[in-house]
This record gives sequence, C-alpha cells and structure tokens, in this order.
Amino acid sequence: MEIHQVASKIMHQADKLVEFSAMDEGLLRAYLTPEHKQAHAQIAQWMISAGLQTWQDSVGNQWGRKVSSNPTLPTLIIGSHSDTVANAGKYDGNLGILLGIEAMNQLSDHDFPFHIDIVAFADEEGTRFNTTLIGSSAVAGHFKPEWLDIEDSQGVTMGQAMLDFGLDPELAGQDKSLKEQVLAYLEVHIEQGPVLESKDLAVGVVTAIAGAKRFQLKVKGMAGHAGTSSPGLTSRRSVWRSRNDFHD
Ligand SMILES: [Zn+2]
Repeated sequence: MEIHQVASKIMHQADKLVEFSAMDEGLLRAYLTPEHKQAHAQIAQWMISAGLQTWQDSVGNQWGRKVSSNPTLPTLIIGSHSDTVANAGKYDGNLGILLGIEAMNQLSDHDFPFHIDIVAFADEEGTRFNTTLIGSSAVAGHFKPEWLDIEDSQGVTMGQAMLDFGLDPELAGQDKSLKEQVLAYLEVHIEQGPVLESKDLAVGVVTAIAGAKRFQLKVKGMAGHAGTSSPGLTSRRSVWRSRNDFHD
C-alpha cells in the first residue's frame, strides 16, 4: 500500500471511532460505558487484522501484542488513550493507537527480539469519575483501590461500573506491568498547541510532559484589587493558605 493510502486508511479509522460516542453532535467517550466497549471491540478487530494477539486487562484497557518468536529483551509498549473529553477532537489519543496498530501492519514481516504491545488506555481524561489516567495508572502499578468508591454524576461507583462492564473490581490493577518487563513506552500524540503548525513542521519530539492533578478548593475572602486595598489582601492570603494546604 502506498504511503498516502495508509494515511487515508488511518483517517478513515479515526472517522469510524467517532461513531462510538455518547453525544449526537460531537464526540464523548467515557470510561466503562457502552461506547468504550464498542470502540475497543473495533480496535481489537483492527489489532487482529494486524496479526496481533489481543486481550483486555483488569481495568478495561485493550491490548494487542506482536509476538516475538524469540524474545530476549523486555516488551516495547506503544499506545495512547481511547477515551475523550466532552465534544472532543477525533484525533486526540485515538491517533496514537491507530498509528501503533498500523506500524505493526507495516512491520508484519519483521521479527524483533522483543514483543511489541499496542495499548488503548480506557481512561486518561477522567471524564466520568474525575480521576485521570486510570488506564495507565493500573499498568504502572498505581491503581488505588479507594478509587472503586468514587461515584460518577449519576451516583454509580467505579466498582459497580466495572461489574456492569464485565470486569472484576477486585482484580483492578493486579495485572500491572513490572518495570523490568518493559523495554520502553512510545506514544504518538497530536500537538495541542500551535508550535508545529506555526513552524510548518509535521512532527516534533517532546522533551518534557505535563502531569495532571485535580484539586477541589474552597476559597474564602472578598474579591478586590490587589495591592493597597485591604479586601484584596485578605483574598490573596486566603488563596495562598489554600494552596499550601493542598500542596503535595
Ligand atoms: Zn490526549
């Protein structure tokens, strides 16, 4: 297949994944929902077509492995997230999964001295439970059992949602990847800023990455002009105290 045909195939696949959405006029795919299940079934099908061995892990991430005939090194992991925020762009996360699968298609004649795992992380955005990175946290061994008690906006706990999805919450995170089992992790992601476009570059390599944390703060005080007015000073002190209280 010519390279432009491969590119157009990936664009069509991204269009297909948009169909698995909880919004009529826009893309919304949250963790442990019917859309999650449908999208991962489709992704698994593409993985199988690329010759990969597929499975779903304990928290609902979808995996596909290009099996090495003689693995002498740890496993290379390539992937991204399949969940979305509300009214999302269709390439966020999903493109990284599709490119990983397609890379395995292109390399189907090659045998590497390590397995290559393509992963679709089921939750990165925290759209449903307001807890981000559940999928990759579980793989990295950082799934916290107390997360199972977090409720969504309908009062459904994560544990119950796992049961409804067909997962056993007792096993969540038990199948983590050990550090020594992983050769490296590679992710292609769309740039969510203007730099590449403004420099007319097709691709860039990141040198640092942001980590997301969410806090709920209550700030007491009175809005006012910063500086000389005393209400302003009160307000600024309160903010500062709140930040200190929640600093990790
Ligand atoms: Zn993303």
